[in-house]
Amino acid sequence: MAIAEVYNPSTLMGELIHMGLETFNEIEGYKVTSEVEGEKEVNLGEKVVKIKGRADIILQKDEEKIIVEIKSARGDKGLPHRHHLMQLQAYLWLFGAKKGILFYVTPERFTEFTVDKPLDEATIIKLVQENISLSPSPRFAWECEYCVFSIVCPNKKK
Ligand code: SF4
Repeated sequence: MAIAEVYNPSTLMGELIHMGLETFNEIEGYKVTSEVEGEKEVNLGEKVVKIKGRADIILQKDEEKIIVEIKSARGDKGLPHRHHLMQLQAYLWLFGAKKGILFYVTPERFTEFTVDKPLDEATIIKLVQENISLSPSPRFAWECEYCVFSIVCPNKKK
């Protein structure tokens, strides 16, 4: 495997920052836990579906819990991306937290956005139902643009 084939400069920078933040045990009095798995079940009527997710970092002080998602982006345009906001809102629901931080690493700067509206269970169920009825991944062409296999993939969306 060649590292240059797996990472581009912006994703490598994101990965390195990710690894650096994970080495902290505490930030400003918050206990730091990284790569936290979460799981909840939702009832779709005809079946029960497990929703799983992995938070990059959870900061915890007493009862307060903050979910941190770290993303790399090619530039500032369009930040914060809607799908990143929705992912973090879903994580707030999954982990029972009221606040999240979307932390971006771009070639120019670091920036962060606060997210404080968890998705409710009805919205999660609607999204799951939509996902089941839609065609398989990837749902959007931009997903293929970021994919390291796109040069060889026969299913790349244009
Ligand atoms: S390029 Fe191929 S493997 Fe990559 S996201 Fe698109 S369909 Fe999936």
